[in-house]
Amino acid sequence: MPPLIMEPFRIKAVEPIHLTTYEEREQALKAAGYNVFLLNSDDVIIDLLTDSGTGAMSARQWAAMIEGDEAYAGSRSFLRFRDVVEDLTGYRHIIPTHQGRAAERILFTNLLQPGDVVLNNIHFDTTRANIEYVGAEARDLVIAEGRVPSIRHPFKGNIDLYQLDRTLTEEGERVALVMVTVTNNSGGGQPVSLENIAAAAEIAHRHGKLFFIDACRFAENAWFIHERETSQRGRDPKSIAQEMFRLADGCTFSAKKDGLANIGGFLALNDDKLAEKCRNLLILTEGFPTYGGLAGYDLAAIAQGLEEVVQESYLRYRINSVARLAERLTEGGIPIVEPPGGHAVYIDAAALLPQIPSNEFPGLALVNALYLLGGIRTSEIGTLMFGDAAKMDLVRLAIPRRLYTDAHLAYVAETAYAAASLAHSLTGYRIVKAPPVLRHFSATFEPLQRVGQAPRLSRV
Ligand SMILES: *Cc1c(COP(=O)(O)O)cnc(C)c1O
Repeated sequence: MPPLIMEPFRIKAVEPIHLTTYEEREQALKAAGYNVFLLNSDDVIIDLLTDSGTGAMSARQWAAMIEGDEAYAGSRSFLRFRDVVEDLTGYRHIIPTHQGRAAERILFTNLLQPGDVVLNNIHFDTTRANIEYVGAEARDLVIAEGRVPSIRHPFKGNIDLYQLDRTLTEEGERVALVMVTVTNNSGGGQPVSLENIAAAAEIAHRHGKLFFIDACRFAENAWFIHERETSQRGRDPKSIAQEMFRLADGCTFSAKKDGLANIGGFLALNDDKLAEKCRNLLILTEGFPTYGGLAGYDLAAIAQGLEEVVQESYLRYRINSVARLAERLTEGGIPIVEPPGGHAVYIDAAALLPQIPSNEFPGLALVNALYLLGGIRTSEIGTLMFGDAAKMDLVRLAIPRRLYTDAHLAYVAETAYAAASLAHSLTGYRIVKAPPVLRHFSATFEPLQRVGQAPRLSRV
């Protein structure tokens, strides 16, 4: 187990957790149709549904919010936001948006034509959806190791440079944009090396293509580079991040991740003509270019968050706390995707519950057991989410930033042990009602048999 690195902050305001009983959770889950997306958050003890917009802000961020300038145009909060983003990324045009997908939509609407191709290590869901919405194709070119959960590789998020060069040589006419997602969210939050980003940028530019970074977890990626890339050892994570951004022509960003904010995002780029087109669409659908759909205080919180997220003490604690949870699970014999990524740990539900066939949703069985046993909300990433196309049945434990202590995560591991000890008695689910698309958000279910009697957990 990695040694404990204590949280590098004190707690200034506390939010009590409503400690539900097993019986209360049984009722709440039944009422939610056995779909944890339909639970009220007050019925959840530890919420690991997502790391997006769920983190804790610092005293300095709250203070900056009070000082937020709500002027429609030229707000002081925008100027600070712009300066911080400019210092970090080096891009000429900084365009605020209400969240990451708005930055994607504005970029793709202006850049892509139907039939165009975008290349990426693995496109995140909203990125792919926004590319397909304008009639273009999103193609994933992650290295082979990035698709095998049990293989250990320091940079499983790397893009396959050979495939990238070959695709650009053979189908270059159709390719409008090359992207790299850091960290690779859809591949388990796995990092991309600085060497790989530099090589991908060089290949894209040699073929005359724009190269952008989907930068949602840029700071976590910089930390992995600091830890794992021999030539970068000991280098300041901010300086690594600055170099990552400077290798590219622009980026899209969700401030709900490494912005350490609850909402927000931006599009940043160098090309003057493209930036002007993007600003025009921004005015039409998001807002004036100095607020882009955000309040002045949101811009203030993001500017401060971007300064805090690259601090070495924060990143060391952050990545360590996720690694410790992963190690606790492994020590308890619970199979996970190796190595753990920066923002989440993925349990291999199919391996833990071999008696449940994929069409009876082993991931859902584990998600619901974790909720019933410990009030922990997680998400299924498998047959329920992707249908028959799913290659694995995983359960994602996404860790919000600065929200939970090591003790909370120890409790999560203890709950997982309890679920694992009952694994043989867990049964699958059948769908009662499901919408035609994105069924995992709103479908309702019925257990094929009652979950076994709960053991008492010591910490609730
Ligand atoms: C979250 C995310 C997005 C979209 O950002 P939102 O703020 O949720 O719209 C895009 N790409 C990646 C890799 C993400 O993790």
